[in-house]
Amino acid sequence: MFFCQNRHACNVRELVVRAVASRRAGYRRTPPITAVFAACMLAALAWFITPFVVRSDERARSFVPVEAPTKPVELRGATPKLLSLSPQQCVWVRNRVQPPDDGRLTPSMCLHLMLLHGTEMEVKTPRSNLCASLLDTILNDQLGAEFFGAPALLKTRYGLRFRPNSPVDGSSEAHRDQCLAALGELEVPLGHPVLLGNEELAVRDILNDSLATFHLAQDDIAWTAQAYAAYLPPACSWRNSFNEPFSFDDLTVELLDRPVNETSCFGMHLLISQAAIARADEQIKILSPVVRSRLIRRISDVVAACVASQGPDGSWGPEWYGDTVRHSPMPASDPPFEGARLLMTAHVADWIQALPAELKVPGAVRRRAGESLIACLRSASQKELSELFCPYSHAACTVLRWAGVPFNRPARGATEAGAVNSRTSPTSPKS
Ligand SMILES: [Zn+2]
Ligand SMILES: [Zn+2]
Repeated sequence: MFFCQNRHACNVRELVVRAVASRRAGYRRTPPITAVFAACMLAALAWFITPFVVRSDERARSFVPVEAPTKPVELRGATPKLLSLSPQQCVWVRNRVQPPDDGRLTPSMCLHLMLLHGTEMEVKTPRSNLCASLLDTILNDQLGAEFFGAPALLKTRYGLRFRPNSPVDGSSEAHRDQCLAALGELEVPLGHPVLLGNEELAVRDILNDSLATFHLAQDDIAWTAQAYAAYLPPACSWRNSFNEPFSFDDLTVELLDRPVNETSCFGMHLLISQAAIARADEQIKILSPVVRSRLIRRISDVVAACVASQGPDGSWGPEWYGDTVRHSPMPASDPPFEGARLLMTAHVADWIQALPAELKVPGAVRRRAGESLIACLRSASQKELSELFCPYSHAACTVLRWAGVPFNRPARGATEAGAVNSRTSPTSPKS
C-alpha cells in the first residue's frame, strides 16, 4: 500500500520516483510559507465578508410582490347632484383646462388632464404631429420620449419606476408615486400593459418597485398611501426588499403623526390619503379597530373644522384645519402666494369627495364650494389657467362631478364639435 501522507508507509523508491515526476510536472509538494499565509488570509477575508455579501444578495432576491387583485378599489363613490349646469355649461367647464398650446406636456399635466378629460383623450406633439392617448404617453417609452423628451418610466431591479422628480427634467413625476396614485384613482387595472422597447410589462411592475423600495421615513408618503389604498386591498401588509414588514396600520399612524403643513399643497395630500385609506377600509377591512377609530376620530374633527372655516364666498384659505391636525406655525415672512385660496378650495373639494360615506360634509357647504370654484373658472385669464394648471384642473373635475357628470366620462349631451367650439365661444355657467 502507498499513502503519501504516511511517510512510514511509503516505499522509499516509489517516493523518489513520485518526487521526480512531480518536479517534472512543475508541481511543488511543499508550498512556500508566504503562499500558505496569503491563502489563509484570503480564506479568512472570504469567511468574514461572505455573510454580508450573501445576506444583502439574499435580501434583494427575497422581495416577494404582494398578491394584489387586478381591479383597484373604487376610491371615489357616486356623488348626488349638487350643481345645476346644462350640458353646454359642463362642456365649457371641461374645456377651460386644456393641454398647453405649445404642446409642452409633463407626466403630471397628463395625469391632471386624464382626471378631467379621461384616459383616452388624444394629444399631439407640436413638431411631428404625432397623436397619442394621454395614458399611452406615460405608459409607452417611445411616446414618452416624443412628448416629454425622455420616457416617463425606467426599468429597475424590482419592476418599473416613474422618473424621479428633477427640476430640469420635464419627463419626471412631481412626487414619488404621484402617477401610480392617479392610475389607481383612474381605476387603471394592474394588468394594463406598459411598453418599454420590445418588452411588454404591466402597471403591476410599477407597484412592485414602489413596494420593494417603500419605507415609512420616505419624504413623499401621501401619494404612495393613496396608491396602496387603491391597489393593495384585501392585502393589509407587505414587505420591502429588505424584508421589513409594513401594514396599513403602520402607514396610517405615520400619516396621522406627520406635521401636515410641512408637505406640499399645505398638507392637503396627507388629508386626502388618510381619507382614501378610510374609504378603502370601508369597502374591504384593512385596518385594526384601534387604528381605524383613531383615523375616523381625526377625520371627523377635520370635517368639523372644514364646515366652521368656510369663507362667505364658499372658499377656504391655507391652514383652515386649525389645531385639529399637527402642524408647525407658518413663518410670518412667508405669506400665502396668490392663488393659495383657489389651491386650497380645489384640494378641499377633492378631499371632500374622497371621504368615507360615514363622514360627509353637509350638502350646503359643498354647493357653496362648487359655486366658488365655478366663479374662479369663469374669471380666470388664460395666463392664470396655465400658471395654476393643477388647482384649476381639480376645480373643473369637482364642478363636473357635483353637476352629475360621471367620473372620467365626456360631458353628456355634448358633441366633440360643441366641445371645440366652446373654447372660443364659452357658455359660462351663471352663478
Ligand atoms: Zn396638490
Ligand atoms: Zn394636482
